[in-house]
Amino acid sequence: MKTKVCTKCKTEKSLKLFPDDRRPRGNRDGTLSQCKACRVAYSAAWKRANPAKEREQRARNYAKNRDKIRAICARWYQENREWHCMNAQINHVLRGNR
Ligand SMILES: [Zn+2]
Repeated sequence: MKTKVCTKCKTEKSLKLFPDDRRPRGNRDGTLSQCKACRVAYSAAWKRANPAKEREQRARNYAKNRDKIRAICARWYQENREWHCMNAQINHVLRGNR
C-alpha cells in the first residue's frame, strides 16, 4: 500500500486518503499534498471566513452545471412528483464536479 505524509497534519496515510490532483502540472503521484480530512477542515474554515465568496462560488458552480441539474431535477420530478429533495440532488451534482 502506498502511503504519503500529509503536509498539514504530518500524518502518514494511504494515498487513497488524499484527494486527486487534477492540475496539469500537479504532484507526480496524482494526489494533493494535504489529506482529505485536512482539505475538508480547510474548506469548512474557508467557507466560515468567506461566506460571500462561498455563495459566489456556489452560484458559479450552479451556472456551470445548470443544464445537468435541470435534467436531473426534471427526471427526478417525473419519478417523484415532489420537489422536497431537490436541494439534495443539486448538492450531489455540485459536489461531484469539484
Ligand atoms: Zn492531513
